Amino acid sequence: METLAVNGGKPVRDKKIFYGHQWIDESDIEAVVGILKSDYLTCGPAVDKMEEQLAEYTGAKYAVAVSSGTAALHCACIAAGIGPGDEVITTPLTFAASANCVLYCGGKPVFADINPDTYNIDPISIEQHITKNTKAVIAVDFTGQAVQSDEIRAICDKHHLVYIEDAAHSIGTEYNGQRVGNLADMTCFSFHPVKTITGGEGGAVLTNSEELYKKIVLAHTHGITHDLELMEGAPHEGPWYYEQISLGYNYRITDFQAALITSQMKKIDFFKKRRQEIVRMYDEAFASVEELILQQEIAESDTCRHLYIIQLNSEKLTCTRREFFDAMSAENIQCQIHYVPVYWFPYYKHLGYDKGLCPNAEKVYNGIMSIPLYPQMSDEDVYDVIAAVKKIVSYYRI
Ligand SMILES: *Cc1c(COP(=O)(O)O)cnc(C)c1O
Repeated sequence: METLAVNGGKPVRDKKIFYGHQWIDESDIEAVVGILKSDYLTCGPAVDKMEEQLAEYTGAKYAVAVSSGTAALHCACIAAGIGPGDEVITTPLTFAASANCVLYCGGKPVFADINPDTYNIDPISIEQHITKNTKAVIAVDFTGQAVQSDEIRAICDKHHLVYIEDAAHSIGTEYNGQRVGNLADMTCFSFHPVKTITGGEGGAVLTNSEELYKKIVLAHTHGITHDLELMEGAPHEGPWYYEQISLGYNYRITDFQAALITSQMKKIDFFKKRRQEIVRMYDEAFASVEELILQQEIAESDTCRHLYIIQLNSEKLTCTRREFFDAMSAENIQCQIHYVPVYWFPYYKHLGYDKGLCPNAEKVYNGIMSIPLYPQMSDEDVYDVIAAVKKIVSYYRI
């Protein structure tokens, strides 16, 4: 059944628009086809090139390309030495993978609350959740905005914790002039198609520590090494010989994904500029709309925004978030909600997590909605989204 627009009239748009979309051009296609015609589909030079480019772009010493952002987070937790009995503090307002990676290692995710204005993890809440078992913090640059990195760094140093940054949303973002990737002990990127740069699937871990780098490399390829120095002293059998010295996984990326990511990365400055333009258009259009609460930015973050979120002010609107979401769909604008608090999921409930743990995150979750944001949107697309939001606000205004 088709839903009618709120006023029963014509929708703002004829053609459906989604909240995010990749932008693949001819140069990306050529890069992938070039690999398909080459000798290496995996473990080849395109992977090395991607790693070099990410390290150069971010300023980090080392980059390890992996098969997904989730694999990147898992490798980071392995390198951090997370195991049974260890606690890792993260945010509930994130994709499940930010916490699942701790469970993969037998550790316990501990949820700190968010700042209700920026939606990022609150350093004060991190500190309140530290126990003698805390080993690491996984801070998520939610929507692309950098977390309060100096504060988190100081907390981690004081309590000897590993600082992991889940930067799935924030490639291209700078914090105090430093690119994300060069701030935490380990930074994890995702190259899923909804993210700013895509390889179809893909991820990477960045670090400045040689020790962590070596652990990440082992973790992402079975714990197998060809490095004689790392071998345990087994006789060198011949040129074919390698050793498995820890338990790792196959988290390798393919060369055609790596080539696509490298090709996309050439356009990151342009993507960032266009994303920032669209954010500015939305900010200006919604600044005077009292029924909406906008995400606040910290001055330190020059954000390459992945998501644009509007929060409904429930005291000024007669509709529920669901009604607003459906009304946007009826205007042919497909929004999304980022995210259901992770510990609300049945799996986490069965592990003993209860609703009410993080009141700020729960309150924000109840009112938010991500509206379309991707660089290929035309100005007209942006105006359509603004018109639809304003139309629905007017209709449900108290
Ligand atoms: C997308 C995402 C991930 C997981 O990345 P995949 O590449 O899909 O595995 C992790 N954390 C956050 C915050 C994400 O948005």
